[in-house]
Amino acid sequence: MTSLKHLPFSHLSHLSLRRQANLLILTIIIPSVLLQAVVIPQLLLQRFRTLEQEQLTDSGETIKRAYVREETRIRAFTKNFAAWSETFRFAQGRNPGFLNSNLIPSTFEGGNVSVWGVTNRTGQLLSAATYNSSGLQTGEAARSLVAVLIRQTPSDSAQTASGVLQINGKFYLMASQPVTRDDGSGLAGRFLMARELTPQALSEVVSPGADTRLRLIPPASAVPENNDPADQLTLTLPLLSPDGVPSATLRVTQPRRILEAGRAATVQISLITALSALIALLLGTAFIRRQVLQVVERYDRGVQQMRQDPEYRLTVQGNNELGRLATTINELTDQHRRQYTRIQTMQERDALTGLLNRDGLVLAARPYSLQAAVIVQIGSLESLSGLYGSVRADQLLLEFAARLREHAPASLWARIRSDTFALLCNQPLSSLMPAITAAARPYPVNTGEVQLRLYVGLVEGDGLKSAEELLECAELALQETHEFGDFTRTYTRQTRQRLTRTRTLEESLRSLTDETFTLHYQTIVDLNGQRPVAFEALLRWQHPELGAVSPAEFIPLAERGGHIYALGQWVLRQAARDLLSVGHPTLNVNVNVSPLQLLSPSFAEDTLATIRQVGLPPPRLVLEVTESAVLENLELATAQLNTLRNAGIQIALDDFGAGYSSLSLLSRLPIDVIKLDRTFLTEALSQPAAQTVLAQTVVLATQLGFPVVAEGIENIDTLVLLRQMGVRRGQGYLLGRPAPFGESLGRLRGSS
Ligand code: C2E
Ligand code: MG
Ligand code: MG
Repeated sequence: MTSLKHLPFSHLSHLSLRRQANLLILTIIIPSVLLQAVVIPQLLLQRFRTLEQEQLTDSGETIKRAYVREETRIRAFTKNFAAWSETFRFAQGRNPGFLNSNLIPSTFEGGNVSVWGVTNRTGQLLSAATYNSSGLQTGEAARSLVAVLIRQTPSDSAQTASGVLQINGKFYLMASQPVTRDDGSGLAGRFLMARELTPQALSEVVSPGADTRLRLIPPASAVPENNDPADQLTLTLPLLSPDGVPSATLRVTQPRRILEAGRAATVQISLITALSALIALLLGTAFIRRQVLQVVERYDRGVQQMRQDPEYRLTVQGNNELGRLATTINELTDQHRRQYTRIQTMQERDALTGLLNRDGLVLAARPYSLQAAVIVQIGSLESLSGLYGSVRADQLLLEFAARLREHAPASLWARIRSDTFALLCNQPLSSLMPAITAAARPYPVNTGEVQLRLYVGLVEGDGLKSAEELLECAELALQETHEFGDFTRTYTRQTRQRLTRTRTLEESLRSLTDETFTLHYQTIVDLNGQRPVAFEALLRWQHPELGAVSPAEFIPLAERGGHIYALGQWVLRQAARDLLSVGHPTLNVNVNVSPLQLLSPSFAEDTLATIRQVGLPPPRLVLEVTESAVLENLELATAQLNTLRNAGIQIALDDFGAGYSSLSLLSRLPIDVIKLDRTFLTEALSQPAAQTVLAQTVVLATQLGFPVVAEGIENIDTLVLLRQMGVRRGQGYLLGRPAPFGESLGRLRGSS
């Protein structure tokens, strides 16, 4: 089966429907006009021509049969007469009145025969007569006519001879017969009968239809052909003489009524079909235009408009296929719009609190000139979920959001991450603080109250910054709260620089190589004899781009990135090797330990393994830990420190007095030495009360049996003061700055 795509109009699909329809109409009109104006009339006329030709042929046949019947009748008469005895006698000359008595029309039934004649055996004409409208003629004219007729009859014919003969421009249907005696005595003469074929006689003989005209003319060969007028149809029938040669042509003429009627009918039919086709075409075209093309074009324009204006809908016309199509397009568009709105809402709103999300906030803030932004993060939201369940945690978030909204009504609040809310407003930052204060108040829970740990990043705008820029600044300030452990942090120009530096350092720590790290050593001195008793190993980092970076800056970053464990082990190994290389058996080395290291369960084990590997006797190693590190997990820290102490390693409590040191705790901690923080000394020099506290601390520590090491001795006054207080050991710039190992070693050798 031919596939539809192979049809010619599939190639027109690039044209508009209207053009295609016009082309289709043209391709229908042209053949149909040709068909109706030319082909159908021609076919019809051809059919009519055949019809009239058939009719003429039929008429010819009928005429021919009638002629033959007349000839047969005349032959029959002739035969009868010739066989009659009286005719024989007449031909013998024995009954002279025979003709008059027997052939006069009044007594003869075959009265239509108008010529008679009889010859005797020698051919001599015995009698001749004609009968016409003027009566019976037996004169010379009749005799010569009959004589001519008889002469043209084949004389040797023993049978009846019949046919048409033309004599003096007239045609005669004649029959002649030898006269034989009915008693069997032989030939007596010849009898002839004839009928003049006048036009009237011809009509009587063949009785043609009203329109048919007959004419006898000389034989066909003598008549020029095809000279019939166009409005007539002619048929010629050859008539034979008694000799059997053509002697006349019967010309049958018929007017071309059928053709004329056919022509008229064809014209009428053509007109009617053309008219109906035209009407059908006009109606069809109008229908296609009105009901299909215009509607489709209107819908097409409508659909284009829908693309511009999402609210626009097609005006549906009628309940037909196109109408239903338009309804479906409208419904689908509505559906699509609803889904789009829902998705947009989902994209712009937070599902739990109903507040905007980050994208929604940025969009909503577009029309405003913004003055301030705040980002509030709830610390350890996950642990809250763990403690109170996710349902209660969600309720807490909802309450949190409600407080923010309540206390900062003229601002835009959003939940930008699960634990983080952001606010933008076109008023000064101070106007937002009540909301933050309200949100920071305790929340009721079934067991009592819970205080949320909040981190707040703030930024004051200038009305020129976009929402994105303000949010980014507030995010940076928020990050700083984490870096510095603050509650709030306000964005300044340095914030970004600091964070950029931090990111760079963190990045570098990730791809860390040992070569960039070195150890400096600061000597710890016996304050009485000014004799070095130990070195404190202090880590140094020469960053390829940023230069020397303080451990106070990179140690927290190494802790955050998890690099501190490897780094700590490297310091320990390096410090132990350096110390061993001195070959001074009474000198110790102090190595700082990060809280994270201390709380790593394998710390004690790893440390012992390292010094064993290097070959450092445990009593020569002093590990410096901070009070806060120990207190963070007292149990674990104590266990680790005990293991180390049991192995012979000494533990120093570093930075004592810098935090919330509790003297009562000292007795419970597994330590050997106390290192007084530098700030302790600084304050003691300027404040008498602080000096008393320091003195008492030294006394107490000494009484508890802890040797005390003072840090940060920068001047003689401090040194003197410390000596007076009974502090036995110390370190500081006055006694020796941290320096590369070789340098510190040189000082050591110089002093001994
Ligand atoms: P820390 O353990 O209390 O080290 C003493 C700090 O005080 C050192 O700073 C030292 O250079 C400085 N210092 C010594 N004498 C004076 C003085 O007279 N005046 C002043 N102003 N400062 C003095 P540094 O080297 O910058 O180290 C800072 C902190 O970084 C150390 O404090 C320690 O907590 C940490 N740290 C250093 N190296 C390491 C390490 O290898 N591992 C770990 N976990 N922490 C380390
Ligand atoms: Mg230290
Ligand atoms: Mg210290």
